[in-house]
Amino acid sequence: MGQFLVLLLLCLLAVAVPGASGGSGQFWHLTDLHWDPGYEAAAAAGRPCPSGGERSGPAGPWGSYLCDSPWSLLGSAARAMRDRLATPDFVLWTGDDTPHVPNEQLGEEKVLHIIGNLTSLIKGTFPGTKVYAAMGNHDFHPKNQFPGKEHRIYNKTAELWRPWLSEASLPLFRAGGFYSEKLPGSGTRGRMVVLNTNLYYDQNNETAGEEDPAGQFQWLEETLTNASRDDEMVYIVGHVPPGFFEKKRGKPWFRRGFNQRYLEIVQKHHGVIAAQFFGHHHTDSFRMFYSHTGSPINVMFLAPGVTPWKTTLPGVSNGANNPAIRVVSYDQDTLQVLDMVTYYLNLTRANMMVSPDKEEFPVWEEEYKLTEAFQVPDGSASSMQTVLERISRDPQYLQLYYEFNSARYDLELCTQECRVDHLCAIREVDFMKYDECVKANSSASAASSVWLLVFCMILGFLSPQ
Ligand SMILES: [Zn+2]
Ligand SMILES: [Zn+2]
Repeated sequence: MGQFLVLLLLCLLAVAVPGASGGSGQFWHLTDLHWDPGYEAAAAAGRPCPSGGERSGPAGPWGSYLCDSPWSLLGSAARAMRDRLATPDFVLWTGDDTPHVPNEQLGEEKVLHIIGNLTSLIKGTFPGTKVYAAMGNHDFHPKNQFPGKEHRIYNKTAELWRPWLSEASLPLFRAGGFYSEKLPGSGTRGRMVVLNTNLYYDQNNETAGEEDPAGQFQWLEETLTNASRDDEMVYIVGHVPPGFFEKKRGKPWFRRGFNQRYLEIVQKHHGVIAAQFFGHHHTDSFRMFYSHTGSPINVMFLAPGVTPWKTTLPGVSNGANNPAIRVVSYDQDTLQVLDMVTYYLNLTRANMMVSPDKEEFPVWEEEYKLTEAFQVPDGSASSMQTVLERISRDPQYLQLYYEFNSARYDLELCTQECRVDHLCAIREVDFMKYDECVKANSSASAASSVWLLVFCMILGFLSPQ
C-alpha cells in the first residue's frame, strides 16, 4: 500500500512538472573564437602576436586585448561551459575561427586545419550533443570571398561537421553553406535555420552583382512558408548580421539590396520566427524588427565573442572586449526565449592571478541575467522593446547595457554620440531609417548644445568681469 502511494505521488509529480516537451530547455551560444595558433611562440620570443599586427603589448597566459585567442583561452572557455552546463539541448556556434592576419599568412589548408581543431574542441566538450554551426566571414580563403555555388571549402567543412549535419543538409551545405533541420527531441515543433550571410557581406566580391546568391533568399522564404504550414517555430542563426555596427556610426555589413531583402523576409514571415542569433560584432547587443505599423515583431540577439581582440576598424575607440559565452533558456514548444545568462572572463584579472603552468583555470563569472538586469519577464520581442525603451530613457540602464556591450571591458560613460550610435543601431536595421534616426537625434543634441552655448554666453555677459 505504501509503495502504491509513493508510485502515485511520483506519477502525479511527473504530470505536474513540465516534461521534455513544452518545458524549458537550455542551449549555449558561442561565437567568434578566432584562434591565433602563433600566439604562444610569439609570446615566448617576446614578439607581438600574429593577430596583433604591429601593435605590441603584454601577452598574458590567457590572452591579450590586442590579440586573438591563444589555445589556453579556448580550453578555459570549453571547461567553463562543461562546468556550467555540460548537457545542453544543443549548441549554437556562429563562426569566425581563424586569426585576424593577412590572407598571405593563411591559405585554404590552414583555414580548414583551424576549423578542424575548433570543431574537435567543441565536439570533445559536448560529445553526443547536436551542434548547429554557421560559417563566419573568416572561415574562408581568401577571407570574406564566399561564392554562391559549390566550393572545396564548403565540401571540406561539410565533412568536418558531418556528425552534426543530417543527410538532407549535406547537398545544400556543399552548394552554399546553409541548411535547416528540425530541433532534436521527438514531437518538437522547433526548427533551426542556419544561414550563410557571408554571401551578403559588402566585403564579398564574389556575390557583389548577384540578386540572390546561392538562391538562399528564395530557399529561406520557402523554408519559412513550409514551417508555417507545418505549425513549426524557427530560430534563424548566422554570422554577419544585417543592420549597423553600434560602435561605429554609419557602418553596415550587408550590401544595401541584401539588407532590404532580409528585412522584408523577417517582416513577412515573423510569425514563425521565434528569435534570431548572430555573431560577428564581438560585442553584446540586440536588434529590433518592426512591422510596417511600428509594432515590435522580432528580435536578433548578437552574442559577445570569445576572442578579446581589439578591432582595427578606424573610428572605433576602445574596441576590445572580455571573452564571453552565453546560455539561452527557451520554451521547448514555442521556442520563446525565456532568459539569457552571459558569462565572462575578466582577462586582466585572469592574467594576473592564474598560472596555466600550475594547471589552474580562471573562473568565468556570471556577468548578468537578462530578466534580472533589465527587469523584464523574458526575451520576447516585446520585452526587448521594453529593454530598448529603458536604455533610451534611463541613463543608468544605458550605462548597464553599455558595460555589458564589451563584457565589462569598456567602463567609460556612454553619453551623447555613444548613446545615439547604440540606440539607432538597435532600433533601425533599415538603411534609410537608421540614417534618419542618427540625423534626428544628432540634430536634437546639436540644437541643445547651441542653446547651452547661448545660455553660457548670456551668463558670461551678465557675470561681473
Ligand atoms: Zn569575428
Ligand atoms: Zn566576422
